[in-house]
Formats: sequence, structure tokens, C-alpha cells
Amino acid sequence: MKRIFLLEDDEALRRGVAMALEGPERRVEQAGSLRQGEKRLEEGWFDLLILDVGLPDGSGLELLRRLRRAGDRTPVILLTANDLETDVVAGLELGADDYVTKPFSLAVLRARVNSQLRREGDGQSLVVELPPFRFDFGSMAFTRAGRGVELSKTEQRLLKLLVDNRGQVLRRELLLERVWDGGDFVDENALSVAVRRLRAKLEDAPIRTVYGLGYTWEAGT
Ligand code: CA
Repeated sequence: MKRIFLLEDDEALRRGVAMALEGPERRVEQAGSLRQGEKRLEEGWFDLLILDVGLPDGSGLELLRRLRRAGDRTPVILLTANDLETDVVAGLELGADDYVTKPFSLAVLRARVNSQLRREGDGQSLVVELPPFRFDFGSMAFTRAGRGVELSKTEQRLLKLLVDNRGQVLRRELLLERVWDGGDFVDENALSVAVRRLRAKLEDAPIRTVYGLGYTWEAGT
């Protein structure tokens, strides 16, 4: 099941796009304002984001900037207005993967979506199976040996970074910045505490401390 998030304030267009993209293996969740979109993205991860740039309460580019700064590499397709080439340039510079210009054909958008979903999945997946663990970041269901484990939002972010980059050492500064959205006002101790809690909840998780550097989820385990 692929999860697509669609942020678009034009309701008729949003419904049309959602209908065109829905399928047996695809679910489209929708929001119509920047605020709603931010809230929804706080609650879970998606395989693909389709973001309108011109929203009643801000710009989809702001959301894209925040996501990328937080290390979120979910594929993003922007919906831009045809007279605003500057939005396309800014969007691509901020890390958008593709864009379509309004008015667009649904067949073209569907083809772009298919292309992004094919590319997605190099190391990053919403469902990660690392027995005895199973982490479903889409529906936020985390289990160890079949038993559910409750994780806070902070613990989920930390866990996702660790497992998306398993086998690599993630430096403390990078984790602070990405888990706490900028990391400016966070005590470094918060990271140690979050790691300790995560280890306690996920007994025998292969989260290793690399002294003086940071943490790693050891690969091959
Ligand atoms: Ca709009």
C-alpha cells in the first residue's frame, strides 16, 4: 500500500486528483491548507507528497523547506501556477523532485506520480522489517516480536533516521538538528534521554553508541 499526501486548496481540483490517483494499492490523504497539511505530516509519514504552492494561509514551499531541513527526503511533486516560473526554480532548489504546472492533465500527473513511486524505496520505506522488529511509519504501528510498542513522536523521528541510515554513524549534532527541527533550543542531554528510552522500549535493538560521534543502527541485524 502506497500512501500519498495531497495538499491543495481548490476543492474540486483536489477531489479530481485524488480520484485519479487512488487505486487498490494506493491511498490518497488530503488537506486544503498549510496548517492542516503541517498537522497531518506531524502525525505520520507518506511515500509521496503532492504540494500546491499557493495556499490560503501560506506557501507549499515553506512546508517543503521545513521538511528538507528536518532531513525528510520523501519525494515531493509541486503544483505550480503557470505564470510563476520563480516558484518552480525555488521549489527545485529547495529539494522538490518534480513539478506540474496548472492547468495540467490528470494523465500527466499520474505518470509523474508513478515515476516518483518507482524511484522511491532505495533504503527508505515506510514499512521496515528487521526481525524481531517491524516498524510501520505510515500507520505508526511498531512491534517487537509481534507485540505493540508505543513510541513518542520524538522517538519515532529518531528511530526513522536510524533505520533509514542503518549501518551508518549518525552524528549527535545531525540527530539533534533533525529530530528537534533545527535543534537550536534543545539540550544535548535530550538526545541521550531519547536514545535511552528507545532502547528500553525496543529491547535488544542494535542501537550502538559510537563514543565521541553519535549513534548507529547496526546493519545486518
Ligand atoms: Ca492554490
